[in-house]
Amino acid sequence: MPSGKEISGRRGGTTKKNAFCSFCRKSYRDVGPLVEGPGDVYICGECIELCQSILEQERKRRGSSKRLFTKIPSPREIVTQLDEYVIGQDAAKRVLAVAVHSHYKRLVVAEEEADIEIDKSNILLVGPTGCGKTLLARTLAKSLNVPFAIGDATTLTEAGYVGEDVENLLLKLLHAADFDVEAAQRGILYIDEIDKIGKTSQNVSITRDVSGEGVQQALLKMLEGTTANVPPQGGRKHPEQQYIQLDTTNILFIVGGTFSGVEDVISKRLGSRSIGFGQSGDTATEMSLGETLAEVTSDDLIEYGMIPELVGRLPVITALQPLEAESLVRVLQEPKNALVRQYQHLFSMEDADLKFTDKALHAIAERAAKRETGARGLRSIIEGVMMDIMFELPDQPRGNHYVVTDDIVEGRSKMFNDETPKTKSA
Ligand code: ADP
Repeated sequence: MPSGKEISGRRGGTTKKNAFCSFCRKSYRDVGPLVEGPGDVYICGECIELCQSILEQERKRRGSSKRLFTKIPSPREIVTQLDEYVIGQDAAKRVLAVAVHSHYKRLVVAEEEADIEIDKSNILLVGPTGCGKTLLARTLAKSLNVPFAIGDATTLTEAGYVGEDVENLLLKLLHAADFDVEAAQRGILYIDEIDKIGKTSQNVSITRDVSGEGVQQALLKMLEGTTANVPPQGGRKHPEQQYIQLDTTNILFIVGGTFSGVEDVISKRLGSRSIGFGQSGDTATEMSLGETLAEVTSDDLIEYGMIPELVGRLPVITALQPLEAESLVRVLQEPKNALVRQYQHLFSMEDADLKFTDKALHAIAERAAKRETGARGLRSIIEGVMMDIMFELPDQPRGNHYVVTDDIVEGRSKMFNDETPKTKSA
């Protein structure tokens, strides 16, 4: 207790009956002991706590805004960091690295010279399921050390309907930033399935389209930069609630979508342009899905059904390649947290050593490729393969070497039966 301050109620051994907190005006009978300052001023415990949290927030705000942007990695450094987690997708990595680098660079410049306008460079990722769209966005946020959140455009509905308000996406970002508003205002928000909203050609409905106009307008405003009122408890907005104001001007939005079928729009355009009359389609069909997607432009997306205003607010468009079996084999073992490495770690905790043969990895990758869910299928396949082994492992003698072969993956043999030796060094 600092000297000169006293707890009221005990002054001179007598209780000061009419003492009340000078901040919240509550009596000491309601709020407990008060701290007395010079000249009949008191403060209660609740107000002290409140002051403390205000000061804490302010300290965080000042500290974090300095800390966040002392160094912005170069595009090359960003790509190197992405390479640790994301296989392939080189073109997308370069585009993202440049866009993100300039976005944050502009922020720093703007901080120093307030009269420079910042143009937003929101990013649109086009690519099939499970090829790494979310992973790229997440890894980017990690390498820049900024708050990151993921939302889904299909859950958004107009206020008053079941579903989420657009502001709830921002709430996720606030959560990720521990309610540090300044940090959240410079975070990255990834919005998935953007291709599912506002398809102008297919929204013919007599009942009201709940994910229509209102959502689009709110989303457009948010992408462009607005001061949004975010309900801190989430859920629906209601009048009595206090809002947190969040300026979205410097939030980097990365939106992703599979845009299945957009390849037809692209090859139609390419076909008619390169060949002219008659044979359109011939060259287009010779191009792989990946090659076709790489040619995507904003016009194709508008033709596909995206509303032009939305496409207009996403100046950077880049396509990701579908992952073929070869790439899936790399996904299995190369990233820092690759599935194979995870299992090897689990085995090492049991003092055992684990290897997969090349053929086994290929068998897993081939099976995942058939599912057409990209790298998403790998986990469930490998878990299926490893189930029995993980069940038996803790009961086995320590120090063994285990090899998963393609026969085990295909179910032609088992790790733990009489024919397959348990200890097989590679
Ligand atoms: P989507 O493109 O549908 O957003 P995700 O990024 O969510 O796909 O990928 C799902 C999972 O698949 C990721 O968590 C990651 O483990 C794996 N994955 C997908 N693409 C890659 C890739 N290019 N390199 C490494 N892992 C990948």
